[in-house]
Amino acid sequence: MDTPIYKRVLLKISGEALAGDKHSGLDFEVIGRVCDSIQECVKMGVQVGLVVGGGNFWRGVKDGGGRMERTRADHMGMMATVLNCLAVADVLEQKGVDVRVQTAIEMRAIAEPYIRSKAIRHLEKGRVVIFGCGTGNPFFSTDTAAVLRAAEIGAEVILLAKNIDGVYSADPMKDPKAVKYDFITYDDVLAQHLQVMDSTATSLSMDNHIPVLLFALKDPHNIVRVVCGEKIGTIVKE
Ligand code: UDP
Repeated sequence: MDTPIYKRVLLKISGEALAGDKHSGLDFEVIGRVCDSIQECVKMGVQVGLVVGGGNFWRGVKDGGGRMERTRADHMGMMATVLNCLAVADVLEQKGVDVRVQTAIEMRAIAEPYIRSKAIRHLEKGRVVIFGCGTGNPFFSTDTAAVLRAAEIGAEVILLAKNIDGVYSADPMKDPKAVKYDFITYDDVLAQHLQVMDSTATSLSMDNHIPVLLFALKDPHNIVRVVCGEKIGTIVKE
């Protein structure tokens, strides 16, 4: 078995990644493989906090923009994240992984409310904690929620699993000259408006000195690789 280089990580998975090639809804084949990798990390003794997005069901601005009031549309987005949390929790449980879902907006009949100290206790006991409802506030993203929870639980790194394999100088789909960075600073990401996370999330990770490791979820085993220090993707730090 490989040796992990982190003790506690915050993994962020976008909603779209959970939809696989369908781009909406849930692809349980993909979720199963993601959960296999999470289980492998837990077996290696890594404490895993997980933030999932909701974009496979609803994004406030994209899907509600012009038709709905922004705050309410964002409430729907936060509800969407809970659908994903419950699906991932269920698959992890089926594999025998201990898991708790905590939501930033209370819905006690189906999940625990987010309480930092309880979340940390779960992690220490080897349970995966899935954080739902993003930050609990409209006008934010689940990337920002990932940074916020990482800061709160003292995660050493944010593992940003995306549909792209790293940070590029330009959109590699549009510009054949785009180069992939192994390393980039937060300042450069912000100054060059690079597509890593939104600027709120990037600033929050910069201010709290939490490195962000962006890599491709296409092969979910990449989660285990980055946890064991394999040099894939792009690391964003000072
Ligand atoms: N959202 C929100 N506050 C948060 C996190 C998310 O209002 O703290 C809403 C927002 O409408 C967003 C949607 O939930 O578009 C889904 O989150 P996100 O777009 O970050 O999901 P992802 O792109 O990662 O699947």
